[in-house]
Order: sequence, then C-alpha cells, then structure tokens
Amino acid sequence: MAEKYYTLHAVVLRNRDYKEHDKLVHLFSLEQGRLTVLAKGAGRPNGGLRRLAQPLTQVCLTLARGRGSLDTLTQGEVERPFISLRQDLSKIAHASYMVELIDLAMPEGKPGQEVFVLLLSAFSLLDMDAEPFMTARFFELRLLAALGLAPQLENCLSCGRGILGGSFQLSPSRGGLLCLSCCNRSQKPEDRGQRSEVSGQGTEDRGQGAEQEGNIGYALKAQAPALAAGTVLTMRHLLESPVNRLPQLKIGAAAREEMETALAHYLNYHLEQVSKARALLKSLLE
Ligand SMILES: [Zn+2]
Repeated sequence: MAEKYYTLHAVVLRNRDYKEHDKLVHLFSLEQGRLTVLAKGAGRPNGGLRRLAQPLTQVCLTLARGRGSLDTLTQGEVERPFISLRQDLSKIAHASYMVELIDLAMPEGKPGQEVFVLLLSAFSLLDMDAEPFMTARFFELRLLAALGLAPQLENCLSCGRGILGGSFQLSPSRGGLLCLSCCNRSQKPEDRGQRSEVSGQGTEDRGQGAEQEGNIGYALKAQAPALAAGTVLTMRHLLESPVNRLPQLKIGAAAREEMETALAHYLNYHLEQVSKARALLKSLLE
C-alpha cells in the first residue's frame, strides 16, 4: 500500500474558496507538475494553513493522500515568500501572466524541472526589482526553449542572411527569423499560386510548414512590426545569457513593442498547437 503522506516542493499558482472555510490550492510542483490540493480551514482568517495557500510563493508541503481525488495539505513551510513581488501591482500582473502560460504549456500531472526552475528564476528577478516587462519576455523565450520550441535567432531561415544585414519577422510556423525580402516573397498566396502553376518555381521548399506560412505570413505582416537587428540581439540575450546579467539589459520603446508583439504571435501559435497536440494524443489513447 502507498504511503499515506508525501512531500511536494511547489509554487502556489492561485487558490479559491471551497465550501465554507476551505480552499483549493493550485500548485506547480517539482515532483508532480500542476495539481490541485485541499487546504482545510485555510479560508478562516486565522487558519493555520492559510499562509501556505498564498499565491506566488514557493512552499514545501506535506500532503495526505485523499480517498477521493483530492489530496489534503497537512503542514508545510513557506520557502520563499517573494514579498517585494507580492506588494507591487505590475509585478503581480506579470507573475500572473507567467502562471497563465504555465497553465497553457504544462499539462496537469506532468513534471517539468526546467520550467519549475525557470518560474522560480523569473519570480526571483521580479522580487529583486528586475524590470517586469523584460522578465516576462525572458520567461516567454525560455519557456519556449524548455518546450523544445525556441525560435532560431541567428539568421534568416530562408536565405541565410545574418541578423546585422537588415530587418526581420519572427515566423511561428518556420520557428525563427525571416528577412523582410524573404517574407515579402513568401507571403503573397496569389503570386505563389501563379508561380507554381506556370513554372513550378519555388515549390521545392514548400512542405507542410510552408503551406501554413501563407496565412500565418499574412497575419504576421498585418500585425507584427519588423524586428530590428538590435531587438533580435536582445532576444538572444534573454534566451541565452546568464540570468544575473539580464537586469542590465535596456531597450527603447520601439524595440519593446516589436519584441512583445512578435513573441505574443509566436506563443499564440505554438501554445495552441501544444494544446491541440495534447487533445489529439488523448483521443488516440482513449
Ligand atoms: Zn531571407
């Protein structure tokens, strides 16, 4: 028979009231990934477990296996309260956004050590007064990397042009940069259709991904500003540099907007794919 008690190292993502005096606590844990546990009495003002249900804290918990589906919190410690983070509205908003990305990217019950460490790094940065905007971009890029979806930021994926040679767009379906001339060439479906019918030119690299690129490319062109070389370099730093160097990164307003829009687009595309892939896998297993 399994042990009745076990320990979890976790970040409290959020909680909600349950019954009269209890709370359901949503966790992202090192050992079991995302899960929900029951904290009895945590809804009372002086409930002993209340402090362990505080969102955006790092905790170490002892849980009792439930007879039903929910396990019950019995005791624990707050390991890092992230006090400065939880006293600042902008930091809270950015941390909550990261929590939403965890919800989207990590299936319940699936542990992910790299993502767990990343979330704690991002919360520490916010707690130490790193800029929330840059911390969120850092989190987005490294979350993509942990999922095996890091964008390629070295050169144009189509013609190989280096990043100092011009402006780029970030193509979600290709998984990296396209220079503007390659973008313009590949994003006119009517031209492409004519070319392939008449001469067959340009068909060699048109796999499944390229087929999607037509539509995605148009959406990109309409919504995403071009990324200047400096913006791409900053993104590389966010993706690869040691965490302690990130608070020193500074960029201007235009670059911030470029980066935010490009990454939002990229994430939308891939996290949707992640959830679709998961639904498909589930239906195949049933
Ligand atoms: Zn190119």
